[in-house]
Amino acid sequence: MASSANGNSDDVDEKITTTTMTGESFRRITTNPTTISSNSIWTNMEMGAFSRSSREDEDDEEALKWAALERLPTYSRLKKGFFVTGSPGNAREIDVKSLGFQERKELVDRLVGDDEEDLSRFLFKLKNRIDRFENLNVEAEAYVGSRALPTFLNYCFNLFEGFFNFLHILPTRKKHLSILKDVSGIIKPGRMTLLLGPPSSGKSTLLLALAGKLDPTLKFSGRVTYNGHDMHEFVPQRSSAYVDQHDLHIGELTVRETLAFSARCQGVGPRYGWEGGLKPMDAEQLREYGHKMVDFIADYYKSIENFPVLSEVEPGYLHKLLPDSAPSHPESLQHIFDDIQTKILPGVTHWQSPNYFAYYPSNSSIAGFLGEMLSAGLNIVGFSWITSPAATELEIVVLDWLAKILNLPNEFLSAGQGGGVIQGTASEAVLVVLLAARDKVLIKVGKNALEKLVVYASDQTHSALQKACQIGGIHPENCRLLSTDASADYALSPAVLGEAISNDVANGLIPFMLCATVGTTSSTAVDPLPALGKIAKSHGMWFHIDAAYAGSACICPEYRHYINGVEEADSFNMNAHKWLLTNFDCSALWIKDRSALIQSLSTNPEFLKNKKLPLMLQASQANLVVDFKDWQIPLGRRFRSLKLWMVLRLYGLENLQGYIRNHIKLAKHFEELVSQDPRFEVVTPRKFSLVCFRLLPHNDEACASKLNHDLLDIVNSTGKIYISHTVLSGKYVLRFAVGAPLTEERHVNAAWDVLQEKASTLLGSM
Ligand code: PLP
Repeated sequence: MASSANGNSDDVDEKITTTTMTGESFRRITTNPTTISSNSIWTNMEMGAFSRSSREDEDDEEALKWAALERLPTYSRLKKGFFVTGSPGNAREIDVKSLGFQERKELVDRLVGDDEEDLSRFLFKLKNRIDRFENLNVEAEAYVGSRALPTFLNYCFNLFEGFFNFLHILPTRKKHLSILKDVSGIIKPGRMTLLLGPPSSGKSTLLLALAGKLDPTLKFSGRVTYNGHDMHEFVPQRSSAYVDQHDLHIGELTVRETLAFSARCQGVGPRYGWEGGLKPMDAEQLREYGHKMVDFIADYYKSIENFPVLSEVEPGYLHKLLPDSAPSHPESLQHIFDDIQTKILPGVTHWQSPNYFAYYPSNSSIAGFLGEMLSAGLNIVGFSWITSPAATELEIVVLDWLAKILNLPNEFLSAGQGGGVIQGTASEAVLVVLLAARDKVLIKVGKNALEKLVVYASDQTHSALQKACQIGGIHPENCRLLSTDASADYALSPAVLGEAISNDVANGLIPFMLCATVGTTSSTAVDPLPALGKIAKSHGMWFHIDAAYAGSACICPEYRHYINGVEEADSFNMNAHKWLLTNFDCSALWIKDRSALIQSLSTNPEFLKNKKLPLMLQASQANLVVDFKDWQIPLGRRFRSLKLWMVLRLYGLENLQGYIRNHIKLAKHFEELVSQDPRFEVVTPRKFSLVCFRLLPHNDEACASKLNHDLLDIVNSTGKIYISHTVLSGKYVLRFAVGAPLTEERHVNAAWDVLQEKASTLLGSM
């Protein structure tokens, strides 16, 4: 039983005064109900005088309308109904025999819609009600003693006797019983009260009386009101949360839901997030909301092609749509989902759309997503081994697995002096190795030599290197971004590097780091690692390889040769979050000499020492374990290895190789399409899944940039695809990167159709 049947005077508001009747306290509503306006339909139904309670509850109107319907003659009642659309009280009468299209749609929506949310609304509506009963008397005439036994003989006797009683021939032998006598009280469904009493004390009769479901043979007197409305005005089942043992009073509710509701109102039970004290990690609420969120995300992926790939909003759009300040009170999850649909998703560029071909991909997958979920669920902060041994150890194991898949030299494995670590991004990876390289050389040449340190890379190197130099105190002029050109497919020339180093050395500078790239951001250029590595070694320089994008392709034996020469490297980095189905962020960095990294990045503050811990737990101090805090910039770190682990286990290497090969095949297909159209050219030979191409200039090279720029704008503004651009040797070039997990050949073909169509329009208008 989940209703309040007490006369607790705290329960009601100021407008109610307390009276005492038959030993029970209750309050009387002193405000007279006022008449509310009603539309003609309801006036015709003799319900023109809807009274409204002092609470001005709009929902009452709905309940009253239902009551009016319930009292119609059966035939008319079957034909009538009404929809509640939008806000409460916004009810519209309908004739169920002649439903229009919109009404049918609304009906179906409502039937298949989120009834949980409806139920919640219904319950909260009930919560604010004050239901009262005054001077209830329920009496019965019944046989007692042996005559009341359910035997066949008694049945026959009672039948005959009843007939003769009716004819006033025989006096009745039924005894008069009083089941409820002068019972009064107040009910607030928002409060859960146990209605206790010995068997046959009338508990069920009271509930049935309140629900208007008393057996018609019982004699009933007294008054039951719902928010000031009399019983005859209301359909009681729609007005309160009374549930009997058989769970019949309210079709919409089960006993469980009613209990859950009452519990929630009091801050206990599974779904109290909104009302009671905040309990932010209740397992049942997590389960319920988590399922809803997964459903939401699954639906997103199902309908992802319906969104414009590139967001079309104006800068500052969201500021206009959201309130100025955070809510003081909790809001419903449904409300938030609605906002995500209407306000957030329009401002999302859909990286996971199969029509996304811009920049480099950032893959999501079910495995990656599950790992991310688990990581969020455990929410550890694994800076040192003891803060979550599994996090550190799984990271070591998984990066060893991936190193072996990539066939990296053994020195990169954890068993030796090196090992792998997961950084957030390739930018962080290059920064930490730059710091290690800097400090290593400064130990040799003296700390005052900082301004003489020079770093080398090609002009195609990602700007992350420049940023690392800025952070690491390397003088901007000492960051040599050496020229590349089309003749070497934009790869760094060893000769150019050698010459630059010689010049710098001659000028008293100190070369300390070389950063080579396998798969440059602009055009997937691959620097010649073996030759570059040798040069770096001969000058005692740190050799870092950035394979952020193309590293994933090297899990396939046929592409592994692109990282030949990695044996010469001191560090190697690839982003599993780009093209290896591991949700952002997961950037794998391997290093041959981990002590160099630790030397640069380790701090050993007192609060992190394990002094008071047992010997086993003093592992960090004893250098028995890895503390990844010393391999990265921040202290805290997430359990990111779970994602990669899930990906490697749930998919297996062969599937991952197939995934990479398929994207490369699709890119090759696109490249062929481009080559077959004489209006276009492929600008650099394709190596992986990126095609660099452009619309050929009509007359002069100067107009080519504008032409391709316009083409890019036009195709992206269709919302059908999203591509990006780069500049190679001064040419404005379009980039088509295949790599979204849902992309199939049909998407590539459709993208090419869009490009061709818009190119025709552009060229036609010239
Ligand atoms: N290096 C290369 C070759 C890249 O292509 C990118 C990004 O696309 C980066 C580094 C930077 O990646 P992150 O965002 O992980 O720092």
